[in-house]
Amino acid sequence: HAKRQGRNAFQLYNNGISGLATSDFKMESLLREAIEKKEFVLHYQPQYDVKTLEIHGVETLIRWNSKELGMVSPADFIPLAEETGTIVEIGEWVIKEACRQNVEWQRRGLMHVPVSVNLSLRQFYQVNLVDKIAAILQETGLAPELLMLEITESIAMQEDIAIQVLQDLKALGVLIAMDDFGTGYSSLKYLHSFPIDHLKIDQAFTQNLENKEGLAIVTTIINLGKSLGICTVAEGVETSEQSNVLKELGCDIYQGYYYGKPLEAQALERHVQGGQK
Ligand code: C2E
Ligand code: MG
Ligand code: MG
Ligand code: MG
Repeated sequence: HAKRQGRNAFQLYNNGISGLATSDFKMESLLREAIEKKEFVLHYQPQYDVKTLEIHGVETLIRWNSKELGMVSPADFIPLAEETGTIVEIGEWVIKEACRQNVEWQRRGLMHVPVSVNLSLRQFYQVNLVDKIAAILQETGLAPELLMLEITESIAMQEDIAIQVLQDLKALGVLIAMDDFGTGYSSLKYLHSFPIDHLKIDQAFTQNLENKEGLAIVTTIINLGKSLGICTVAEGVETSEQSNVLKELGCDIYQGYYYGKPLEAQALERHVQGGQK
């Protein structure tokens, strides 16, 4: 349903600008040209260690600055890119650019933290994913432990293959995060067979901490992380109250507007140099 929603949202947005609905076909061709036209921009959102408030990592979030459509958010084009397969090419560009950027940050001594990149289902299941990532690490010179790949529970649909791919990725030395945890359809069984470094608590849960059910869910995820030895990351932290509760519950990492919005590389550098909360 998310797919459909994303596309409808885009159509509304697009109608608002041109008065005409762009067909998926047109949109797809615009998307295909977007890489070459250099219309994609990467934003980076900082993540902070709950205990020390030191920067712990940055998540890469793509933006599309389309000449014809204006700024388009990923929620509006990733579903189509995924459906049409364009995501494989876009995703590869994202990984390459994020790795290049992180190498540059290392070189300038600005920070020494992993950069996270979101992987779509389609990307995850392409046959040569592991080779491609190995080649990108080689080409950019990024240490594998400074790249984290974010996957969602949907990859568990083909559990045996997923376990194999994840093990191959771990063998490369990269880190794995389970994104939007608790929002998908999956059993807890895979969590212990998947080699996962970070469990990301979906922002819907973080933002529901003031009610009893919300608190219960987040408490459970954090305790699950603790007993499995997996770091928990709270997404969507917007207030000091949320931040305090999460700290009390023993959450490991904060991510959210309260600590920093996704920013272009240069703006993130200023944000990081300006010190933390
Ligand atoms: P996600 O990976 O779960 O990323 C977190 C989303 O929450 C981002 O939305 C981020 O801007 C937003 N966010 C962070 N902190 C807060 C907060 O405190 N409050 C609120 N309300 N929102 C917050 P964004 O950038 O619009 O991305 C949406 C989704 O699009 C991502 O969700 C991810 O699933 C997908 N996406 C983004 N970039 C890529 C990409 O390069 N490749 C793929 N495959 N998917 C991507
Ligand atoms: Mg993510
Ligand atoms: Mg998420
Ligand atoms: Mg999400």
